[in-house]
Amino acid sequence: MTNSLVSAIDGVITYLAKLVDTPKINYKELVILSTWLQTAFEVYILRRQLPCYERPLPPPALKQHVSKETFTKAQSYSKDKTRFALVKLVFDQFLGWGLIKLGAYAGLWKFTGDLLSKVGISSSRVTTHSLAWMTILTLISSLPGLPWSYYQTFVLEQKHGFNKSTVKLWIADTFKTYALAAIIGLPVLAGFLRIIDWAGRSFVPWLMVFLIGIQLTLQIVYPTFIQPLFNKLEPLPQGELRTKVEELAGQLGFPLKHLYVIDGSKRSSHSNAYFYGLPWSKHIVIYDTLIKDSTVDEVVAVLGHELGHWYYAHPTKLLLVTQLHLLLTLTIFSIFINNQSLYSAFGFDPSLAVTKPQPIVIGFMLFQLVLEPTDAFVKFLLNAETRRMEYQADEFAVQLDKKSDLSSALIKLHITNLSSPHNDWLYSMYHHSHPTLPERLNAMDNYKGEKRLKLKGVQKDEVEDEGKKDL
Ligand SMILES: [Zn+2]
Repeated sequence: MTNSLVSAIDGVITYLAKLVDTPKINYKELVILSTWLQTAFEVYILRRQLPCYERPLPPPALKQHVSKETFTKAQSYSKDKTRFALVKLVFDQFLGWGLIKLGAYAGLWKFTGDLLSKVGISSSRVTTHSLAWMTILTLISSLPGLPWSYYQTFVLEQKHGFNKSTVKLWIADTFKTYALAAIIGLPVLAGFLRIIDWAGRSFVPWLMVFLIGIQLTLQIVYPTFIQPLFNKLEPLPQGELRTKVEELAGQLGFPLKHLYVIDGSKRSSHSNAYFYGLPWSKHIVIYDTLIKDSTVDEVVAVLGHELGHWYYAHPTKLLLVTQLHLLLTLTIFSIFINNQSLYSAFGFDPSLAVTKPQPIVIGFMLFQLVLEPTDAFVKFLLNAETRRMEYQADEFAVQLDKKSDLSSALIKLHITNLSSPHNDWLYSMYHHSHPTLPERLNAMDNYKGEKRLKLKGVQKDEVEDEGKKDL
């Protein structure tokens, strides 16, 4: 039964692979066309959003909370950010287009091969050649982004009073990020390529196991080894806030192990709070900026919202969705893995698609280019799902009787982060992982009444069991 299913899937993949390996499809032109279309769509969305920042007044729901001065500042900051995003988007498109048009992918493959043979490494060492190629390709496509990152931190954020970083810190951060990408990325890529090489056409399940293992390892390694390279986490000192947070966690059966404050203010005055950890041992992290700007009850209300995410197992559900997306991507890749037309369209020798050992990295990168425009659809769907989760977590906080504290905390967060309350609906659908502030306040107002009944339920013991079941 299982065998016949596997061979049926294999048959479909072989059929589709033949179908899409034809010189009739010019993959290079297809990629160029689709990336231009995607960029045009994103430019259109940003252009729709810009007029929202010209509106002179905040929406009625916020009128009594936001001063005219703050509103004007928020409008001007949002306008600058969106204009920046617009110019950067066009720049990135030209960069990507230039790399494809100039044949950089194939050119750099030859260049790195020649370079390696000069230092005595044979070009038959496919993994070494692949890693060298990826390193150079990554540097060439990401280094032009550095001046933009500098401008964003030291001009744009600075102008609106958010930047707390120094040039020294920015340079150190950049170096650390590149070093980490190399230390983690290159061995993972080597493993990825070796597994496909070893497993052949049926690599998908093996690769999934490998990639899930890597993700789980990173989840454990990140807070212990990676985050301390950038930020300092300190235990939240004893006091009213700590007592109230522990009390809330206790009531809900949240397995709180550590409660930290993070020095987010080192780089920026934007604020936040989150939790992470294994199902039986969770850590809550609160930004020092959030504590500074809010009352104790407001911070607790924000955590009430965060614990709503835990209660409904949102992170686990998102993780599952990501794995399904990964599985789908790899399955489609198995259709393209020996596609000679794809290789030759980008200037590679088509025999590279079928030789052994095969430089699979080339096929994978070219396949990514072909698949890239579908990211826009995935983004729409994923954002719709996370917005639904945000409403659910807000509702949870309301049921904990924290509506007014959460509302005032959210209003303060939006004011201190200078987010504009006006948004174009299509822009919001595409870009926002969270509903807008007026949407959230309205939704919380509508939870009144029948939902109050659930409040009793939340505080009953049965809910503690529910919570554990959700882990
Ligand atoms: Zn949330």
